[in-house]
Amino acid sequence: MFSWKEICSLLTKTEIPTDDFLFTHISTDSRSGNNNEKTVFFALSGPNFNGADFIGKAAEQGVRYFVSEQDYRGKVPGIQVLLVPNVLQALQKLAASHRAKFALPVIAITGSNGKTVVKEWLYYLLSPDYYIAKSPKSYNSQVGVALSVLTLEQQHTLGIFEAGISTTNEMQALADMLQPEIAVLTNIYSAHDAGFENRAQKFSEKAKLYTSARLVIGEYETFEQFTKIDQRFYTWSFSNTSAQIYIQKEELAHTTRLEIQTNSKTFSLSLPFTDGASIQNAAHCITTMLALKIDFQIIANRISSLPQVNMRLSIKNGVRNLQIIDDSYSADLQSLQIALDFLKNQSSALKKILVLSDFAESDAHTLSKIEQLLHQYDLAEIVTVGEWSREIKGTALRKHFETTAAFLQDETLRNWSDASVLIKGARKFEFEKILKILEQQKHETVLEINLSALTHNLNHYKSKLKPGVKLMVMVKAFGYGNGGEEIARLLEFNKVDYLGVAFADEGVKLRQAGISVPIMVLNPESTAFDEIIQYQLEPEIYSFRALNAFAEATRKVGATAYPVHVKIDTGMHRLGFAPDSVADLAQELTNVPELEVRSVLSHLAASDDLNERSFTEQQIERFLQATEVLQKQLSKKFYRHILNTSGLINYPEAQFEMVRLGIGLYGLASSDEEQNQLETVGTLKSIISQIHELQAGETVGYNRRFKAKEKTSIATIPIGYADGIPRFWGNENGYVIIHEQPAPIVGSVCMDMLMVDVSAIACREGDAVIVFGKRPTVQEIAKAGSTISYEILTGISQRVKRIFFRE
Ligand SMILES: *Cc1c(COP(=O)(O)O)cnc(C)c1O
Repeated sequence: MFSWKEICSLLTKTEIPTDDFLFTHISTDSRSGNNNEKTVFFALSGPNFNGADFIGKAAEQGVRYFVSEQDYRGKVPGIQVLLVPNVLQALQKLAASHRAKFALPVIAITGSNGKTVVKEWLYYLLSPDYYIAKSPKSYNSQVGVALSVLTLEQQHTLGIFEAGISTTNEMQALADMLQPEIAVLTNIYSAHDAGFENRAQKFSEKAKLYTSARLVIGEYETFEQFTKIDQRFYTWSFSNTSAQIYIQKEELAHTTRLEIQTNSKTFSLSLPFTDGASIQNAAHCITTMLALKIDFQIIANRISSLPQVNMRLSIKNGVRNLQIIDDSYSADLQSLQIALDFLKNQSSALKKILVLSDFAESDAHTLSKIEQLLHQYDLAEIVTVGEWSREIKGTALRKHFETTAAFLQDETLRNWSDASVLIKGARKFEFEKILKILEQQKHETVLEINLSALTHNLNHYKSKLKPGVKLMVMVKAFGYGNGGEEIARLLEFNKVDYLGVAFADEGVKLRQAGISVPIMVLNPESTAFDEIIQYQLEPEIYSFRALNAFAEATRKVGATAYPVHVKIDTGMHRLGFAPDSVADLAQELTNVPELEVRSVLSHLAASDDLNERSFTEQQIERFLQATEVLQKQLSKKFYRHILNTSGLINYPEAQFEMVRLGIGLYGLASSDEEQNQLETVGTLKSIISQIHELQAGETVGYNRRFKAKEKTSIATIPIGYADGIPRFWGNENGYVIIHEQPAPIVGSVCMDMLMVDVSAIACREGDAVIVFGKRPTVQEIAKAGSTISYEILTGISQRVKRIFFRE
């Protein structure tokens, strides 16, 4: 595919090597399971990391050829490093040159919303006619587009790629790589407005995508606002007959009937969606198909079976300790690799199982690629379903079924336990039926945890750390209510130094889930000492009594230098050694060789309250004095840490050797300024169970606390105080969001249900309800009850199912 010589001669002017070693793929991610000796690794740097730091890790996976801004040859023997001034530009240059080798047409899609859906739908609609290369998931960034374009191969007859930008001067690089023949502009909304002065500037940046395109597709009104519509534009509209395609829509029960008028013909079709965004996305697809001169009848047939696009890989809890990764709507090489990487990063305690259907491209070339890919991953079992996939030769234990129905009847899936299962299949195999069998009983109320937002927040706080400062993340109380194991796994993956839990059994759970990061236990009860040692958890020692008892427990098992963490009480008066007892403590510690002080900590009582600045500074001063006394006596150096999240923001000078991050990771800050830099992690969702129409004078709920003044529509939501929704949020103090509009909670919150007024909202039974998330926020709810967000978040009951996803 690429030779080293070719890459070097393209990217550098000096000393072209004669080495023409051939590569099969380009990688920028040292965590990918698909890195091997046939990979060229582009060591990209980011705002919080230096790309060259990943060279060592990629080399361990067998990679030998690197493009980097720093020369690492000295540190890792036997590797080739091509030095370039800018790795991103080098990657883009390679992509542009690769693109230029192929004469095939490319459809490039840009716009504020809907890019991924339009791309996936066009892929679905055009697959029968073309052999298509497409961006995996929503790879549309400066790096994503380059990696997408680099997957182009000789066999492809069409490319469909997304192009996303967030500020000015970004589109040209994407356009150079894509060289599109057809450009689709989905719309210009306020998404990502921050990077632009106004919408006109945003439009003109996006327009760079199609300066050399043959055809530009979009809604007539989008272009009309900003530009002169010339020959190249092929537009549609719901209201303006100047557009080439005029569309009328009629909403039916579960479908929308669209009547499409072109200058030569009128035809109608049925779209299996009724929401506005889907209708708009479908209009782009229909117009693109017309531009490609596809027959009306074929368009109508294919549109009528358009699938729901699953934008992200989500993990669902299944029966028998199964973790199910649902990717049951597409089967192609790129998305298979992404899904396998995602599978690989699940708990090491769970074995990995893959269920795979036939691909749309069922040729020998794809077959050998799949085999290569499967070889890279450690799979305990593979099930294939279909005709063509029978030919796949997996290394692992493999079973084949001709049809999904045959597989559903088999024992195999009923015997699976303690595994991560990736369900990956083309739409027509209806793998969602497998999911139904494996999934735990569905609740209508779920807490969705956005792992990408969590990673964003983690990186935000990491960027506040001085070089070398270590990071402990508090995952106590089930990760502040968000899910203990899943979050710990993500943190381990992102290389945090320590995890903190409140009780030993929380730590034991994490160990049993395969987490191996050091874990500190804040409240080590003496009854749990043996377990603490057995699972290599590290206790916080806060009193002489605890010190002696834990030393005794370690002595019993013959441990030496067992790591412990000494807590000093500098003013919180909760747990810890008094500062005036520290000299005695130092003496005592020298007598217990069974224990080794790994760190010394204290906790701030009011780090979020700047009115208490002098008290906090006094706490920090006391802490410094105490640690000095201890360090003088102890031969080993220990870490010092006193800052929690708001401490890190307000007292950055007191980072010492480690900080303890908590609430901020979960997306909640104590100031607005800080809040604006975080992303929302948890969204509590439910549905409408039933809608009642009330006449004036009728009442709602216990003790008739709400009385309708006029005709009122009331929706019942199956979530109540037993799920953690506080009663103070009822009786019109709080609201939920339905179709982006607030619906006030009327009457008292019941144990398992609450009622909302939906008179002003067009909604139906079964519609989605947001209880908290971006709006209302957890803080908003907390404030209404004069409490803190911590209490609301950790109060969400364990009976609410958690669903984890990445964007
Ligand atoms: C919970 C906890 C933290 C984290 O506090 P946040 O305010 O959530 O950042 C830090 N240290 C100790 C001892 C804790 O108990």
